[in-house]
Amino acid sequence: MHIYLDNNSTTPVDERVAKYCHEYCLENWGNASSREHRYGWNARDAVEEARYLVSELTGSPSNTIFFTSGATEGINYALRGFVGFRDWHKKKIVTCAAEHSAVLTTSQILQRLTSVELEVIPVDSYGICCLEGLQKSLNTDKHCLVAIMSANNELGTVQNTDSIYEISKNGGAIFLCDTSQSFGKSSPTIQDFDADIFVVSSHKMYGPKGIGAVVIKDSVTLEPLITGGGQEGGVRGGTLNSPGIVGFGVACRIAKEDWESDNHRITKMRDRFEATLLASLSDIWINGLGAPRLSNTSNIGFHGIDAKNLIRDMHDIACSTKSACSSGDSGPSHVLKALGLTDKDAYSCVRFSLGRFTTDAEIDYALKKITHSVQKLRQII
Ligand code: PLP
Repeated sequence: MHIYLDNNSTTPVDERVAKYCHEYCLENWGNASSREHRYGWNARDAVEEARYLVSELTGSPSNTIFFTSGATEGINYALRGFVGFRDWHKKKIVTCAAEHSAVLTTSQILQRLTSVELEVIPVDSYGICCLEGLQKSLNTDKHCLVAIMSANNELGTVQNTDSIYEISKNGGAIFLCDTSQSFGKSSPTIQDFDADIFVVSSHKMYGPKGIGAVVIKDSVTLEPLITGGGQEGGVRGGTLNSPGIVGFGVACRIAKEDWESDNHRITKMRDRFEATLLASLSDIWINGLGAPRLSNTSNIGFHGIDAKNLIRDMHDIACSTKSACSSGDSGPSHVLKALGLTDKDAYSCVRFSLGRFTTDAEIDYALKKITHSVQKLRQII
């Protein structure tokens, strides 16, 4: 038995999506920028239909959607496009300590390479950004960009994006929101809250990998990240990944139809998962419990246990100690450290993330396996 409880890392591609990707690889494989023949026209029509489907789920007009290779590229585009080539000393990036490495590392590199200022705001014990700190950070003459995600990838806790938007607007700042973990999962459109730039990723919502989008409001102008053929309105050059784009569009259509029932089912499974573990194991805790959280995420600390040993012992349960994008780094999770956990406690935490295809039977199996492994490892210590 192999059970996948790592859906925040990536989701399996929905079969309904794969069918379309397959068609646009093998049949309608034209270049969407070829204007002089049917192959190009077919691909262009499919790309524009997908752009419409993405725009429906984002709640923003099609002309604000620019396809990228995923969230990391979208974040790089927003941050690097904001910093640009001039007036660095007049600009500032504000972010928070529990952000994804795509934001933190890129901001640190930009700070090193240019004279742009960077301020990293602390988070509370739930991973929620300190709003007072954010407000103070915008008390400056500099033009600011605030980069804060909608929901944390390791904890599932949800930021107070309405207040972040309001504080950003009052401070004259641009608000960049990485919605990779919530888009298509936690509400029908991301425009239930406001931001100037949204970043979305297809492989977190049952679409193919290597595709995503950045949604940019008309009021924002950024330097292009990739120049060349002038595709995507000159914002992102390069031949369009039409099979990926078509798949992403279909994934958005399905999310619009299914998110509510998915969410209902997944919340019930996640709550049962946590309640059963809390009842059957002593000395465990749930990171982020008590704050608003994504319905699918459960980050659990097992006192006295090295999470890597636990994951190895449960070999047929796929879960993780931290974000896949920082798993090459052997230190403790920077997110858990930002909550104030000691190194030892941070090394004891495992993220379980459920998804559309998780079943009750799989949760039953995982519960037995986790309980057995934790009890066994505790006896060895
Ligand atoms: N932002 C968040 C919150 C994520 O969870 C991830 C993926 O792990 C990314 C950004 C990077 O997304 P992508 O793989 O599409 O570049």
